[in-house]
Amino acid sequence: MFGRILIANRGEIALRIIRAARELGVETVCVYSLADADAPWLELADQTVCIGKGPSADSYLRIDRIISAAEMTDAEAIHPGYGFLAENAHFAEVCRDCHIEFIGPSPEAMSRLGDKINCKKLARAAGTPVFPGTDGEIEELEEAVEIASEIGYPVIVKATAGGGGKGMRIAHNVAALRTAVTAAQQEAIASFGNGAVYLEKFLDHARHVEVQVLGDKHGNAVHLYNRDCTSQRRHQKLIEEGPAPGISPEIRDRVCESAAELIRKAEYSGAATVEFLMNEKQEFFMLEVNTRVQVEHPVSEMITGVDIVKESIRVASGDPLSWTQDQITLRGHAIECRINAEDPSKNFMPQPGTIETWQLPGGPGVRLETHVRTGYRIPPNYDSMIGKLIVHGRDRNEAIARMRSALSEMKVAPIATTIPLHQRLLNHHAFVSHDFDINWVERLLEE
Ligand code: ADP
Repeated sequence: MFGRILIANRGEIALRIIRAARELGVETVCVYSLADADAPWLELADQTVCIGKGPSADSYLRIDRIISAAEMTDAEAIHPGYGFLAENAHFAEVCRDCHIEFIGPSPEAMSRLGDKINCKKLARAAGTPVFPGTDGEIEELEEAVEIASEIGYPVIVKATAGGGGKGMRIAHNVAALRTAVTAAQQEAIASFGNGAVYLEKFLDHARHVEVQVLGDKHGNAVHLYNRDCTSQRRHQKLIEEGPAPGISPEIRDRVCESAAELIRKAEYSGAATVEFLMNEKQEFFMLEVNTRVQVEHPVSEMITGVDIVKESIRVASGDPLSWTQDQITLRGHAIECRINAEDPSKNFMPQPGTIETWQLPGGPGVRLETHVRTGYRIPPNYDSMIGKLIVHGRDRNEAIARMRSALSEMKVAPIATTIPLHQRLLNHHAFVSHDFDINWVERLLEE
C-alpha cells in the first residue's frame, strides 16, 4: 500500500478520498487554490500545497504544479477524483513518466474507452448492447444517409471525442441529416480539435441506467449492479438511485455482467461507469464509459457494502480486487439527491456566498457527503454542488420515505438550494411509480 497519496481535487470528493485514505493508513496531501485557502477538508489532510489562483485553469488543471507538489511531498500516487483532470489521458501519462501512480486506469485503457467509436467496437466484442448506427466514423455523407434509412429516424450525429453534449445533432429526416453531419463536424473541430462524427439511433422517452464497475491490474473485474439517473436537468443528474427500478433481474444481471466484461476486455483498472439508455421494452444501448469515480458512487456503496474509493486506491497499489462477483449481493435500495447551491425559482442561478445556517439530517440509513459547514463561503469558481444526501432503505418505498424525511430536516440559509426541487420530485407520482423518462424534470419545470 502507498505511504502517501496526493489528492488533485477539491470539495466533497477530496474529503471522501481523505477519509478512505485514513482508513487505509495512507497519508494525504491536498493541493488547493487560493479560493479554497480556508476550506474545511484541508484541515483533515496531512499536508497541503497551494497551487495557484481560484480559476481552475490556474490551479486544479495545472498538471505541472500538481506534479511538482507530488514530487515535493514524496507522494507515491495521485487521486484525480472526478472532473478536472480525472479523464485526461495525458495527465495519467505524465504521472507514469514521473513514476507517480495514477489512481485510475492506465492512459491506454482510458483512451481505449474514452474514444467513443473505439469504445463501441470493444463493447460489441464484449457483448455490451450498443445503439444501431454506423460502425465507425462517417467518411461519406451518403453512407450516413443509407444507414439512417436502414435503422429509421430519428437519428443522432455525435462526436467521437465528444463530451458535455457538444457536437451532437438530432435529425428527423434526410434533409436534416445532411446539415446535421456538417454542423456536428464543425462543432466537434471547434470543441475538441477532432472532427470525427458517427451516427446512431436516437432514443426518445429513454431512461438513463448505468452500471458501476471495478477492475484491477490482474485482469479481474466486477460490477456493483446499476443505478437509475433519469432525473436530470440539462444533462446534469439531480437524483440517482439503485438498483434501477423496473428491470427484470435477468436483464439487469446480463447487462451488468456485459459491462464488467467490457472493462475486462479494455484491461481497465479502477472504478468506471458504463452508461446506457433504456427504452420501455427494457432494451439497453450503451452511451459511453466514464473512466473515473462518479458523483453518485455512494448509491452503489450503500446497496453492496463495497467501499469504491478504498477499493480503487487498493487496486492502484497493485492489490487484486478484494471482492469476487459472487460475494457482491444487493441489499435494499438507495437514493441520492444532489444538493446544489442554485436557486430553482431563478432558473437555477448559482448562489455563491456564506452559509449561515447548515442544519443536517440524521437517523438510520442517512448519509451526507459534504465539505460544507456553518460559516462556509462558497467560492464562485467551481461547481455548485455543496453536498450529496444519500439514504438507504430496505426497499424503494422505505428509501423514498426516508429521503423525504431527511430533506425536510435539512435547513440551509440564506443561500438557495435544490432542496425544494428534490422535495417536489420525491413527492411526484411519476417518481414514486418510476414512470419517468430523461425529460420528465424539464417538462415539470416548464409547467
Ligand atoms: P457527452 O459525452 O457529450 O455527455 P453522451 O453520449 O453521454 O455525450 O450523451 C449526452 C446525452 O445526450 C445523453 O445523456 C442523452 O440524454 C443524450 N443522448 C446521447 N445519445 C443519445 C441517443 N442515441 N438517443 C437519445 N439520446 C441520446
